[in-house]
Amino acid sequence: EDTIGATLAATVAAHPDSVALIDAAADRQWTYREFHDQVRALAAGLRRLGLAPGDRLGLWSPNRWEWVVTQFAAAEAGIVLVVLNPSYRRHELSYALSQSGTSVVVAATSFRDSEYAQMLADVRGDLPDLREVVLFESPEFAELLSVPSADELDRLAQVAAGLVATEPINIQYTSGTTGNPKGVTLSHRNIGNNGYMVGELLEYTADDRICTPVPYYHCFGMVMANLAATSHGSAMVIPGPAFDPAATLSAVAKYRCTSLYGVPTMFIAELALLDSGAEFDLSSLRTGIMAGSTCPETVMRRVIDEMNMGQVSICYGMTETSPVSTQTRMDDPMELRVGTVGRVGPHLEIKVMDPVTGETLPRGETGEFCTRGYSVMLGYWNDPEKTAEAIDGDGWMRTGDLAVMGDDGYVRITGRIKDMVIRGGENIYPREIEEFLYTHPDIVDAQVIGVPDAKYGEELMAWIQLRSGARELTVESLREFASGAISRHKIPKYVHVVDGFPMTVTGKVRKVEMRAKAIDMLG
Ligand code: ATP
Ligand code: MG
Repeated sequence: EDTIGATLAATVAAHPDSVALIDAAADRQWTYREFHDQVRALAAGLRRLGLAPGDRLGLWSPNRWEWVVTQFAAAEAGIVLVVLNPSYRRHELSYALSQSGTSVVVAATSFRDSEYAQMLADVRGDLPDLREVVLFESPEFAELLSVPSADELDRLAQVAAGLVATEPINIQYTSGTTGNPKGVTLSHRNIGNNGYMVGELLEYTADDRICTPVPYYHCFGMVMANLAATSHGSAMVIPGPAFDPAATLSAVAKYRCTSLYGVPTMFIAELALLDSGAEFDLSSLRTGIMAGSTCPETVMRRVIDEMNMGQVSICYGMTETSPVSTQTRMDDPMELRVGTVGRVGPHLEIKVMDPVTGETLPRGETGEFCTRGYSVMLGYWNDPEKTAEAIDGDGWMRTGDLAVMGDDGYVRITGRIKDMVIRGGENIYPREIEEFLYTHPDIVDAQVIGVPDAKYGEELMAWIQLRSGARELTVESLREFASGAISRHKIPKYVHVVDGFPMTVTGKVRKVEMRAKAIDMLG
């Protein structure tokens, strides 16, 4: 029940000279003592701006060292950090800032083709609560980081001592994979414990270095990497502001990282780079996490065999559950390590429920996956109605994901309720067909969606990314490949060859967008 600040302070006391943070792009690094000094300086600076416990501070930036320092400074001062997606544009930015009642924003001046400073200036007029914007590159930010007085540090320590671990510390708007973002509100207890459990799972120590190409504004980065690291004295390594396979593997080699995170598409890109003959010294790696969406078995096996990540784990979860609910472990049988999302995490409960009747289903049956325990969010910010839809009266979080639990307790995620296709009354899980398509020698990646059909209600369409140099793939040749291997009604009626898929910045395929485009295409 410690606050994030108390956990960090304990780590600093135990490992003052271990490396806490490395920013490859800035070519800078901090020990835990130096990091803590920066964090407390910024915490005091934020208090000088008038931010008090419970106030909302927006953070809009790609991954860079200022992000991490801001994350811990806000926690130290009890300020609720509103993490903003780097790909936001005016409308989304304005929605998140106004919905959360954010009063101060710290931000990068720009990122890629996005002028954050300009966009912030544009939306400010519509945001009466927003009274201050501080850009990382400005003298004001440098001032916020200046060495605090003894008096300021005293008052900060008093504030920190009065914080309660069950209070909100973070608002994260969900990826928007399936619709409008919702402001998931999380406490120190929610995310601090979840990060700690992830660190225990991967047996992190002060010798570990975690390379994080996944975005920080999301739980995968800020909790599973940063809070796992800071509760175990491990180092946080930022390979760059945006995902790049070469930069990621170079950072692993250069900083001798022991752990590497990614969504499946990132690992697919890294493996493709290795296939192309590029060489990186990955001998320091031992572990890591693949999570965020369906983790194809073939990709997991290759990561274990070819990237020196024998102890890699698959985690499953969602922002609303801080995020991890289940995970695979090194000592699980290989089949289950690569083919399931593992078993329930420590101090949590899970069940599979009939989404219609609400009854708990027996093992082996597909239903909605639910989680209960310390990890379940406080709620959606200022949205009691959506909160009540998501968390039932007994505290069970409905994930919207379809799952089957085996007799052994291992869970398989079979899709999202919203992605399920009903063709002629038959429930079809796109995930199963995608797994099958991955076995085709010419297919690099495949995504299956349902499209409206007059006769069957819905029909299947496969979007396929071909290996470079592969011949064009036709519906006929796919049908030939699939016939006899999967049931006839599961063979996609339409095939659409693409160079890539519409993605969220978290690296998830946006099937909503695919469906909209497919409907257009079919006219
Ligand atoms: P939104 O809720 O805004 O539509 P989102 O659900 O993608 O977006 P997140 O909370 O980032 O937002 O993602 C959680 C979801 O990601 C889970 O509900 C699940 O569908 C998927 N997911 C996460 N990990 C895994 C995994 N290991 N295997 C399969 N699916 C996963
Ligand atoms: Mg979701």
